[in-house]
Amino acid sequence: MVFNEKIVDAGELKHIEGKIELYWIYTSGEAGDRFFKALKDEGKFLAAKCTCCGKTYFPPRIYCEYDFSETEFVEISGEGCVRAFAVATLDNNEESLKNPEIYAIIDMDGTDGCIIHLLGEMDAEDIRVGMKVKPVLKSKEEREGRITDILYFKPV
Ligand SMILES: [Zn+2]
Repeated sequence: MVFNEKIVDAGELKHIEGKIELYWIYTSGEAGDRFFKALKDEGKFLAAKCTCCGKTYFPPRIYCEYDFSETEFVEISGEGCVRAFAVATLDNNEESLKNPEIYAIIDMDGTDGCIIHLLGEMDAEDIRVGMKVKPVLKSKEEREGRITDILYFKPV
């Protein structure tokens, strides 16, 4: 079969049994690399602002998706507002969690982007859409340059 031929008979599809060994390396890219280094080394949050239209990306991008212009990195506070949240009471094995986990979509101040992360130091009953939250980070010695360097967001 050549590249531009279509399979019209499902019987022509290959069937593979057993394990298929796959290997991959995920990279966060140039912008993601700078974001995680700033988070790890300085406890700072970076976004990227388009030099043409001013759209501010979080997580940062190296170019604007709307006009393909370059962006420049800008430091943001890391604070934001809860757009939506959900309370998880079961773990992956459907066992009850001792302490429910609260996940939220947080619109990041000064950007057009958001992050999905845990909320902490509050009860589910106290959370309101639009409430202001700020990040709580691991200590500098514990940070690894991962999104889990942010422990959770708490009320401002
Ligand atoms: Zn732009």
